[in-house]
Amino acid sequence: MKIIYKKLVVLTEKVEDLEIKESTKPDKNPFEMAKMQFDIVAEKMGLDENISKYLKRIERSLIVSIPIIMDNGDLEVFEGYRVHHSTVRGPGKGGLRYSEGVFLDEVKALAMWMTWKNSLLNLPLGGAKGGVCVDPSKLSKKELERLTRRFTAEIINVIGPDIDIPAPDINTNPQIMAWIMDVYSMQKGKSVPGVVTGKPIEIGGSVGRETATGRGLYFILQAICEKLDLDLKSLKIVIQGFGNVGGNIAKILYEEGVKVIAVSDISGGLFDEQGLNIKELLEWRDKNGLLKDFYERDYFFVSNKDLLEIKCDVLIPASIENQITESNAYNLDCKVILEGANGPTTPEADEILERREIIVVPDILANAGGVCVSYFEYVQDLQSYFWKLDRINQELRNIMIEAFEEVYKISNEKKVTLRIAAYMIAISRLKKAIELRGIFP
Ligand code: GLU
Repeated sequence: MKIIYKKLVVLTEKVEDLEIKESTKPDKNPFEMAKMQFDIVAEKMGLDENISKYLKRIERSLIVSIPIIMDNGDLEVFEGYRVHHSTVRGPGKGGLRYSEGVFLDEVKALAMWMTWKNSLLNLPLGGAKGGVCVDPSKLSKKELERLTRRFTAEIINVIGPDIDIPAPDINTNPQIMAWIMDVYSMQKGKSVPGVVTGKPIEIGGSVGRETATGRGLYFILQAICEKLDLDLKSLKIVIQGFGNVGGNIAKILYEEGVKVIAVSDISGGLFDEQGLNIKELLEWRDKNGLLKDFYERDYFFVSNKDLLEIKCDVLIPASIENQITESNAYNLDCKVILEGANGPTTPEADEILERREIIVVPDILANAGGVCVSYFEYVQDLQSYFWKLDRINQELRNIMIEAFEEVYKISNEKKVTLRIAAYMIAISRLKKAIELRGIFP
């Protein structure tokens, strides 16, 4: 047995003493990392210097302060951001996250990654992202509503169906999208469902949106298994994260009879080589339970850091950026990494993983199911005509598989990693759009 198993046993005995928040703020600047990833590809493509200069800059960043009267009568002021990286291919599109770790450079990186993702999927959308620096678990529902409504009022001039369309991301959900839609609509004097996606179905949301990122990950996992000649049903899978992305892919895998041997949330993870009962764990999570408090079965407890090093076939990082770095890339014991999170792997780690022949399916491809169904939601809102779930899943599959095949082909032809191939496709489309539109004035 590897050392990790010993560590797990020790940790199991000490669950009570564990610090709940393991990491909220990444140690490497995500925007520097995003630009570094871009530079690597730009060099490989021999990208025109002017296009490179253009794409490395952020179109606009808005920083707002959000004063809120708390339930106890005190005033608190939070900081929020909305960033448009590029609108050259269409209106900005990207999520909004609420997290204590959010800062401007993180949002800039996330906006840039959205530009690449939307271009790779060939959606007529640019890249944007937003964030509020707040721990929403410390707010009451009323405080959360006031925060969301005031934030929306502060960014109202930079959002809109033909400007920038927010959506859920870490710690935001359909209810929060409903408040955003309401504030925007009240200001415009009419209902404008197309201003956000990921809304509740009753007010213009789309079926299949909540599970779309997990569903998309599953389509891509099936596709990569086929290429690598791996039997999906006999794989052992480790997932970091148990929110919308990690939770949904875990659920799909469990229902398909694929073994998920470890999952984690912010409090740490649970591990069982025989496979976890994901259904039970999801019920536990939905009752607001942290995984570290789950004692109903004899699972090992493991830290988020150790979880990444568990021997498995497929590792799915589905939490935050900067999790796979040069300090742990040598220790990973998997064949494939399927990036559910945005930016989980640093460029230094990418290099190590390439040498170790671990296949990395990049975020901008693997987790693109969410924004893809967001696009369907937006189209349905604009047409006021709503699709059935079968159509959503079929069209999602078509778009994801088409992108996957293109990435796989370029990766083989040019002998580059899947990430570099994906970036090449995305950046080529953006280059074309910039050249066609020209530079104003
Ligand atoms: N937050 C998701 C992402 O990072 C979805 C964004 C969207 O639907 O606009 O891709």
